[in-house]
Amino acid sequence: MTRALITGGAGFIGSSLVRHAVLDLGWQVLNVDKLTYAGNLENLKAVEGRNNYQFMQADICDRAAMQAAMDEFKPKYVIHLAAESHVDRSIKDAASFIQTNVVGTYTLLECALNHYRALDAEAQAAFRFHMVSTDEVYGSLGAEGLFTEETAYDPSSPYSASKASADHLARAWHRTHGLPVVVSNCSNNYGPYQYPEKLIPLMISNALAGKPLPVYGRGENIRDWLYVEDHVRALVKIVTTGKAGETYNVGGRAERKNIDIVRLICSILDELAPASSGKPYSELISFVTDRPGHDFRYAIDCTKIERELGWKQAESFDSGLRKTIEWYIGNQGWCDAVRNKKR
Ligand code: NAD
Repeated sequence: MTRALITGGAGFIGSSLVRHAVLDLGWQVLNVDKLTYAGNLENLKAVEGRNNYQFMQADICDRAAMQAAMDEFKPKYVIHLAAESHVDRSIKDAASFIQTNVVGTYTLLECALNHYRALDAEAQAAFRFHMVSTDEVYGSLGAEGLFTEETAYDPSSPYSASKASADHLARAWHRTHGLPVVVSNCSNNYGPYQYPEKLIPLMISNALAGKPLPVYGRGENIRDWLYVEDHVRALVKIVTTGKAGETYNVGGRAERKNIDIVRLICSILDELAPASSGKPYSELISFVTDRPGHDFRYAIDCTKIERELGWKQAESFDSGLRKTIEWYIGNQGWCDAVRNKKR
């Protein structure tokens, strides 16, 4: 049975990966998560009690705990998603970003390397350390062009700089120590169970509560959007068939201006859950001072993973957004619970 140690499995993308790995793939999964404000065991109700699922509450910076997890669980794959992930929080206070994203990744790499060195040759050939990263490491694009795997790193925010550092460390552990590392850089994800501080769930939950919909600047910034389950399928392709030392960009070919997304959310909500005031939700849109260092545009060229690994996204942006909105309408209790959780 494939044994995967997944970090950050109680978060948005991690919990989607854990559900897929445990329920659909039948992998033996150890989920290592500190349960910060962003980690929530409610996201994992579907796998609770399964005998191919284990949970360990621990900080990835805790070297003794990480080494024990590697030595006892003996993973074939380490899929590393644990991170501080919200750009706005990294602007207010970067300390936990440096600690978790940089020091935590270093700690995991060291522990994974010790584990790897103790494996026999066949197990070493199959082992992968998958560094799950973001397209934000590439910095900002102008109106034209796409990020490829060759694009130079040029991060703008403390968040993206900390992720870039982690990617560099992961590649260094491959080049220097021979650890079989794969790196993936993905565009913005959306879908169920995303903490309601990120654009799409924030807009949906604020609208449903009749609160203002804060849009940075004039909402002209462009992001490329991917449904979370498509990202998860890409992660599985990469860790199972990706070549050690390689990087794979993952994206949705769905570039949208922030303001267009917010308007689309409003119009779908007008149809699915009309406001009791009878007014359109778009009246709640309020433009606020732009985020400092706000990258203008991200767009991913994902032909490498399509061509070399045969991955294709299954969800269109319009169908994925509608599904997501339906999920948030049906799960407002989840939003209240995660927001009320203390760090
Ligand atoms: P998230 O914030 O929803 O979840 C992060 C998880 O990591 C939480 O469960 C949290 O408890 C856990 N965690 C944080 N610090 C930890 C620590 N020190 N030790 C152990 N666990 C810790 O994040 P997400 O949106 O699911 O993103 C997951 C990964 O994917 C991150 O590495 C992120 O950089 C990357 N990524 C995210 C996106 C996106 O759009 N959300 C896009 C590309 C890449």
